[in-house]
Amino acid sequence: MDNLIDKIKAAGLRGRGGGGFSVYQKWKSVIDTPSDKKYVICNGAEGEPEGFKDGYILDNHLEDVMNGISLAMKEIGAEKAYLYLRKDYYEKYQKAIGSYPIEAPLGLIRKPDIGYIGGEETIICQVIEEQNLFPRKKPPYLSEKGLFGQPTLINNVETFYYVSKISKDEYAGERFYSISGDIDNPGVYELKEDDTIIEVLKHTGNYPDFDFFAQVGGISGEIFLPSEMDKPLDGAGFINVYNSINVDHYSFLERLSQFFHEGNCDKCTPCSGGFYLINEMCKKKQIDFNKLEDILLSLKVSSFCALGKNAYLPFETFINKITKDGKH
Ligand code: SF4
Repeated sequence: MDNLIDKIKAAGLRGRGGGGFSVYQKWKSVIDTPSDKKYVICNGAEGEPEGFKDGYILDNHLEDVMNGISLAMKEIGAEKAYLYLRKDYYEKYQKAIGSYPIEAPLGLIRKPDIGYIGGEETIICQVIEEQNLFPRKKPPYLSEKGLFGQPTLINNVETFYYVSKISKDEYAGERFYSISGDIDNPGVYELKEDDTIIEVLKHTGNYPDFDFFAQVGGISGEIFLPSEMDKPLDGAGFINVYNSINVDHYSFLERLSQFFHEGNCDKCTPCSGGFYLINEMCKKKQIDFNKLEDILLSLKVSSFCALGKNAYLPFETFINKITKDGKH
């Protein structure tokens, strides 16, 4: 099997940016959309609070990431690729990437200081096009109408790394996990993608011997109790472990709400107003749980973009599983 797109299909690679969408389907959609101009974007915004997974991959596997971008450009017939990096990665790799021998033009873009929303894919297009920094409505999806209105393939750093591995027949279902929190061996590990969360913690010497819970899949990820961890990780490859006894419930929710309060774009009320209100309640240590439930529902059903739509989950699962009766 020589054709890269067929190899990606056979490998069953799913995007590693968090959504877990089929990489084959995404590439096929860009290939099948007729246009004279197409673009590739590599997303290295990595906005997770303890995020250092893409940085680890750039540190150790830059050649494969660049190879993956280059292969994608050839496969979809792109005229230009953009590598979009958060500030510290941009500063660290600017020189190495600038002198990289990639055949087609490569634009290196620094993520502006706009918080978590700066990693959202339509915002990335807005940044590159120098437009206002609000997300675009989807559909149309970027694969049909993306950068400069043209079909655009966007994947994250880890996904391009694995595309390169697939092209060399060196991929066997691995993924990277970034493990942090109250553990002995924090860091980035490459393990099987079908390992359960428990296996990942055990294989890395990080399974706690105390009462704990974890946020799994990134800052918008669900809160898991140990009894729920016998399944593989969904979403972005982050596991953040908490020693239950050390967690102040108000502080936990305040930190989360502060993050989304500072990291949203202020375009729509359910999200910008919702996180402001949650944050205020947490700061005052006076949570009206009925009001909080209404805010979370409104986030889920009425937010304009995926940031707001997904961010209810850690709040809802923390309240249901950790605060138990819903009242601290
Ligand atoms: S949900 Fe609304 S306010 Fe929040 S980031 Fe998206 S567009 Fe901006």
